[in-house]
Amino acid sequence: MARVEIYTEACKSCSYCVISCPKKTLEISEKVNSKGYLYAEQVRPEDCIGCMMCAQICPDAAIEVWR
Ligand code: SF4
Ligand code: SF4
Repeated sequence: MARVEIYTEACKSCSYCVISCPKKTLEISEKVNSKGYLYAEQVRPEDCIGCMMCAQICPDAAIEVWR
């Protein structure tokens, strides 16, 4: 199973990763980082296929995928 790490302090809440995930495992949480952005989080890690779409599309390099 792939593992996704989201660097929440770098997230700007653009939702690109949420939209791009083919397995819909990412959501924008209701928690904010120190800059005031609601950050992305993975809600169904067991469904992740490690495709790296989220990491590639993130404009702030806030996601890494390990597989
Ligand atoms: S690696 Fe692919 S399946 Fe996993 S969270 Fe990112 S976009 Fe979704
Ligand atoms: S694409 Fe990057 S900056 Fe945008 S919501 Fe996802 S993790 Fe945050």
